[in-house]
Amino acid sequence: MLIPSTVRLGRPIVTTSWDDGHASDLRLAELLGRYGFRGTFYVPFRAVREPLLTPAQLREVAKSGIEIGGHTLTHPSMKGLGLERSRQEVRESKQRLEDILGRPVTSFCYPNGDLDAEAREAVRQEGYSLARTTVNLRTSVGGDPLRMPTSLQFYPHSAYKRLRIFGRNRDVPGLLRWATGHGCRAGLDGLIDSLFNHAMRNGGVFHLWGHSWELDRFELWGPLERTLERLSGRAGVRYLTNAETLEAVSKP
Ligand SMILES: [Zn+2]
Repeated sequence: MLIPSTVRLGRPIVTTSWDDGHASDLRLAELLGRYGFRGTFYVPFRAVREPLLTPAQLREVAKSGIEIGGHTLTHPSMKGLGLERSRQEVRESKQRLEDILGRPVTSFCYPNGDLDAEAREAVRQEGYSLARTTVNLRTSVGGDPLRMPTSLQFYPHSAYKRLRIFGRNRDVPGLLRWATGHGCRAGLDGLIDSLFNHAMRNGGVFHLWGHSWELDRFELWGPLERTLERLSGRAGVRYLTNAETLEAVSKP
């Protein structure tokens, strides 16, 4: 299924996603819920940072309205991993999550945003309908649901790190947008407001993503709460999970 990237979306959508299944996702689910945000938590079975959510905690997060998505078993880079190994990582993690949650898991996120054609094919063959990347500075879901871009990571990257991310994703349009329209001198708040307002004006998708362990490590809980407060409760805006976002855009 390909979605024209120029499709007009109607009411703006705000979605969030959070990777790595750290135990601080419990606090994050509560915070998102308090401000009326929804989101998708992408959960692997090997910790990027200890401790991982337990199965009981995963069920608790899911019960709060957060979507749970796959993030492989061991969080490998899938670029160059090959079709068979990628399929195994994708299949086994999907099965384990579905066993824990008792429901289908339909959204996936590539570890570190690394992918190639075989990684995408593995995700497709194992039955995922959506796969998120780390491509940023977008306010649409893009043209390929298995390469879904985002608006911004909730992390104050240096200009140098941003350039490296554009390079890793071979993202020339994003680089140009950053260097011109969205201002490479803007801080995190400035970038968030610029992209959010762009989505609000044009009926697009604002997609904020990050890691709860990073909020702990870099003391970003306060800044995140202030951001959520600022963007919450806007009239006419739909606050959705990643899967709901794709569905809404597919059937406007
Ligand atoms: Zn990850």
